[in-house]
Amino acid sequence: MPAIPSAAIGRLVTYLRILGQLEAAGIQQTSSGDLAREAQVSAFQVRKDLTRFGSFGKRGAGYTVATLRREIRAILGLTRAWNVALVGMGRLGQAIADYPNFDEYDFSIRAFFDVDERKVGSLISGIEVSHPRDMSRVVAEREIDIGFITVPQGSAQTAADDLVAAGVQGILNFAPTIVNVPPSVKVETVDFLAGLKRLAFYLKPQVEGEPVAEE
Ligand code: NAD
Repeated sequence: MPAIPSAAIGRLVTYLRILGQLEAAGIQQTSSGDLAREAQVSAFQVRKDLTRFGSFGKRGAGYTVATLRREIRAILGLTRAWNVALVGMGRLGQAIADYPNFDEYDFSIRAFFDVDERKVGSLISGIEVSHPRDMSRVVAEREIDIGFITVPQGSAQTAADDLVAAGVQGILNFAPTIVNVPPSVKVETVDFLAGLKRLAFYLKPQVEGEPVAEE
């Protein structure tokens, strides 16, 4: 199988969001040109991304929104709900737990873990907080696929090790550090501070002779 660049996966996620918005607005047909405009890429790029997975739509006739949406959901593995556990129920963990619309995105929060004994046993959104020592059992019982790491940076590797030992397949790491996992486990890191620092580079006054950012 040819390898798919991660940027192409990112674009598919963007097309899916746009298709969802079109469907919600009652629009039934779209084209690579429409998708390209909304996704801020070229129509050629849209067609290339989609034909990578087979031919969608008829030449010249564009795409049926509902069909393309279904196909992209299947490509992305969104034909089933993914069960999520949060590790670290501090400020960020609580905020994610409080986010109301996770189910809409096919992700279901099923378990919470924290080492703080004062939090263990408490209820958050109706789910009891467990201690990581019980992670293997809870992950198996609740069929957890994905773990979010929302612990301080210094505890992130321990949280990753616990999740891997418990059998999760994927980790969304919010801690500002790299975590090492076996090749069979996929890690995505979310770091809004890194985004802020990139923004600062774009916003700072230009210095004579320094390379400038690409348009
Ligand atoms: P916090 O101190 O409020 O909460 C951390 C929680 O993790 C605590 O409840 C603590 O008891 C628990 N914990 C510590 N070690 C643990 C372990 N091994 N297993 C399970 N639980 C453990 O921290 P916070 O403000 O919620 O931040 C959490 C993490 O998220 C930090 O690494 C922070 O840098 C990061 N963060 C990332 C983003 C982002 O955009 N990616 C944004 C905000 C915060």
